[in-house]
Amino acid sequence: MKRREFIILGGIGATSASVLSACGHPEEKLIPAFIPDDQYVPGIDYWKASTCGMCPAGCGIIVRTREHKANKIEGNPLHPVNRGALCARGQAGLEVLYNPDRIKGPMKRVGERGEGKWEQITWGEAIKTLADKLREIKSQGIASNIVFATLSLRGVLGIAVNFLNSALDAKFLPTQESTSREVARGYPHSYGGEATPIFDIANASYLLSFGARFLETWHSPVMYSLAFGEFRRSSGKARGKFVQLEPRMSLTGANADEWLPAIVGSEGLIALAIAQVIIREKLIEDAAAFESQIGPLDQYAPEQTTTLTGITAETIVRIAREFAGSERPLAIGPGAGSSRELGEINDAAIHFLNALSRNINKPGGVLLPASERFEVFDALPLAEVGGTGWWESINELSVRINKAGPVEFPALLVHQINPVLVAPRSIEWIMGLPFIASFSSFMDETTRLADLVMPDQTDLEGWDLRSMLMAGSNAAVSLVQPVVEPQHNTMQTADVLLAVCRDLKFKEADSEAYQSAEAMVKHAGQKLKFSHPGTDAEEQPLKRFLEAGVWVGSVPGKADVFESQLLDSSALLTERETNDSYPLTLLSYEHAALGSGDAANLPALQELPDPLTSVMWGSWVEINPKTAASLGVNDGDLVEVATEHGSVRAPAVLFPAIRPEVIAMPSSQGHTAYGRYANGRGPNVAVLNPFGMPGQSIGAKVTKIGGKSRLIRFGTELQERMEKRR
Ligand code: SF4
Repeated sequence: MKRREFIILGGIGATSASVLSACGHPEEKLIPAFIPDDQYVPGIDYWKASTCGMCPAGCGIIVRTREHKANKIEGNPLHPVNRGALCARGQAGLEVLYNPDRIKGPMKRVGERGEGKWEQITWGEAIKTLADKLREIKSQGIASNIVFATLSLRGVLGIAVNFLNSALDAKFLPTQESTSREVARGYPHSYGGEATPIFDIANASYLLSFGARFLETWHSPVMYSLAFGEFRRSSGKARGKFVQLEPRMSLTGANADEWLPAIVGSEGLIALAIAQVIIREKLIEDAAAFESQIGPLDQYAPEQTTTLTGITAETIVRIAREFAGSERPLAIGPGAGSSRELGEINDAAIHFLNALSRNINKPGGVLLPASERFEVFDALPLAEVGGTGWWESINELSVRINKAGPVEFPALLVHQINPVLVAPRSIEWIMGLPFIASFSSFMDETTRLADLVMPDQTDLEGWDLRSMLMAGSNAAVSLVQPVVEPQHNTMQTADVLLAVCRDLKFKEADSEAYQSAEAMVKHAGQKLKFSHPGTDAEEQPLKRFLEAGVWVGSVPGKADVFESQLLDSSALLTERETNDSYPLTLLSYEHAALGSGDAANLPALQELPDPLTSVMWGSWVEINPKTAASLGVNDGDLVEVATEHGSVRAPAVLFPAIRPEVIAMPSSQGHTAYGRYANGRGPNVAVLNPFGMPGQSIGAKVTKIGGKSRLIRFGTELQERMEKRR
């Protein structure tokens, strides 16, 4: 067989060669992939390095392209976050790029709001329309009431938004879908600063997780899945023990040595009960020093709190002894799918266990970044990147706007999030807004209400940089660069906003470094210092960066241990109110593949069976078999789930690994305007708890409904056919 020359990133070396040859390619020669598009040779694979944009974790990717088409995404072995691995969601990035339901160019509304009547316009007209509207709002002196809804204001978008704010002499109201993607609000109390710590699962010897679904959606799933593999590896060290506490067994919980079905919202109380045992039994040195923080100890004793936690005192005492007796114990949490009740109080109580075991900045413990902030765009003049702190969620903002009246808020600029789906009450004020511009790549439930649609490019077509603080002084900068030409008449949102700034005569936007997202990335990338021996990186840092897709280096500073603060935890001792009309507790959780519905338009992910229920292409309600029996519900029956806010219908899945008083639903479907693969696949769970955060529970009831359910499960039909043949 004739050997093909294989083109791949220069410098990846043996690791990637073996990774890629494992896929059956006959490649043996590695040469740089930094080849201009006009020098492509037909029939040859070219690999380009970029960053996965399918979740905020920022894994490095390499994308195989041939004849200007991207046809495979792999993990970048050089990237410190994912070290060559990739999750299913990351692989599905190609289905975003080539999705047939993408918006093909800018449009303006010509019918009634929400009617779906559009007229194609040019980018020049779209930019002028937006600039004129913003100019008018500025002249009214209310530009600071413009709502900017997006996932994050980091990177080039953050700079462009700051420029636009300056041009309008305003400060937009930034908002996001939820307060986080299962991220703890309590970290600043436990570890200080804004930067998220790294939890050294790989080197821990005892992992106590309070509902953190780190193999699915928590923080950085690929990074923590790799770490978990190392945690489990027995060579050279004892195999770690993993205990998971959560009311409903997640995939992560299914991988635990011990799964404990805690009562919803009791995670913080369990943590304090464990702390109480550690202190009273003096299981760690100087344990008494922490007594003043925890308050009157006896109130948290496991013997006193069993009815509130659902975990027996014997079990809590045993776990406390195991945790304290372990060489490198680590507590993590919280996570949706367990619960997000009492937010920061719960978070701080969970992480108090790490302070108690003095594992901060120690192998197997909590590794703090040396700096609070590291932003590669600081290298640019004038750059001030949008903050990463907590913003008002759409739900919180909705309450405020509904009170003040939407007329006070002159415009909504919505970028790649879908408030109407995830916060259904937001439609009340969004419908009343004078002006809505959407930058979505897809028509969705919010974009359908827009006056102006300016479709963004996908992550595989645009430019950006992601700065990442790692443990200690380690840091990384991950590159987003186009792997193919834009597929449609789209424009990167940062470029649109910069063009609007120029229309508004904001002179800073004229400078060379701010001509485009690409210019910003290349100017900042040039400042990165590479020091790989044997390369020409010192001379050509940008070339090296574009090839590798990532810069790994260090930032100044020292990772100091912060004195953990336990918040007033007395609220954890309050018994949950019950309501006879809604005797069950509904938990909604982020689907591991489909997220909170943003990936529901990708057929490869709809097709992926849920690992615990094997359901595909739809939604379902998990019910404990005992509860189901009491309601006369069988597996697959159509049921109605109702809360005080509304009701939805979905098929029941009898699920033994859930507390009897709890039911659970993934919050991944519910689309009515998100394209052919997403629409009509199941109910929108958010209508049941419209002011809650993901993972927050609410009282609910279940009623069996006559009628056919649509439950598609992997292998079911095949199995039935085989059984019939027997
Ligand atoms: S965890 Fe998966 S979806 Fe998220 S960035 Fe990494 S590969 Fe992409």
